[in-house]
Amino acid sequence: MIKIDYHTHHYRCGHARGTIEDYICKAIELGLEEIGISDHSPLYFREGNDPGPGSAMAKHELPEYVDEVLALREKYRNRIIVRLGMESDYIENMEDEYAVIYAQYPFDYLIGSVHFFDGRHIYDRRRWERGVNVEAAYREYFRLVRKSAKSGIFDVLGHITAVKAYSPKIHPKILNELYEETLGVIAEYGCCVEINTSGYRKTKAEPFPDYQMIEKCVDYGIPLTFGSDCHDPSEVTHSRVRVESLLREYGITELLTFDQRNRVSIVWD
Ligand SMILES: [Zn+2]
Ligand SMILES: [Zn+2]
Repeated sequence: MIKIDYHTHHYRCGHARGTIEDYICKAIELGLEEIGISDHSPLYFREGNDPGPGSAMAKHELPEYVDEVLALREKYRNRIIVRLGMESDYIENMEDEYAVIYAQYPFDYLIGSVHFFDGRHIYDRRRWERGVNVEAAYREYFRLVRKSAKSGIFDVLGHITAVKAYSPKIHPKILNELYEETLGVIAEYGCCVEINTSGYRKTKAEPFPDYQMIEKCVDYGIPLTFGSDCHDPSEVTHSRVRVESLLREYGITELLTFDQRNRVSIVWD
């Protein structure tokens, strides 16, 4: 059984329910050995202390977030391992600013996610209104994913086919080229990729990355981890059983966990 969940949110981001402790208790109830707390990073690329109350915690909340996770880690240390993480936006040309902020805290791991490109959030369906150049949007998205891998800031790359969530179809040949190019860079820079089951919730079909890309990750020797991207305690380990059969099918026996930015490989089955 997969006994980790490395991608979780809670009320601070403004669009998730429950406290961090609620997620930890749910993880214990589900028999997990580790839970990674990985709320959205503050929107440092925007002005002001709280530029997106419905998107992410305010800038001043980061220290208290860290303190709370560390306190809960102690409280539950005999029952579950609690990792301090963060799902960070990847913002082009702000790599240094983000790296300086994160260096101040004892993170176990950082997930890097491309949430914003071409001026819109990735899950903003208005991106795909009539007349949009789908291929150009995909090219821009994967260009940023490659840059996030090259940035060296992140241990894990988050939901790296999320561009597919609500998009019109793109030609399979172009998609295949983009996957090959992107995974080549990810392998070269040694990043881990998460299997993020919010894809099942958003596309009703596949996780992020999709099946095609997960299979390619195996070919490229790219290590994987698992995260539900839960925004409600009931979603902890969402679709775990489906992912287990997928991993079996592809012969993936190991997943990565993170301790103080060091990788720890676990056999999940
Ligand atoms: Zn969220
Ligand atoms: Zn995300």
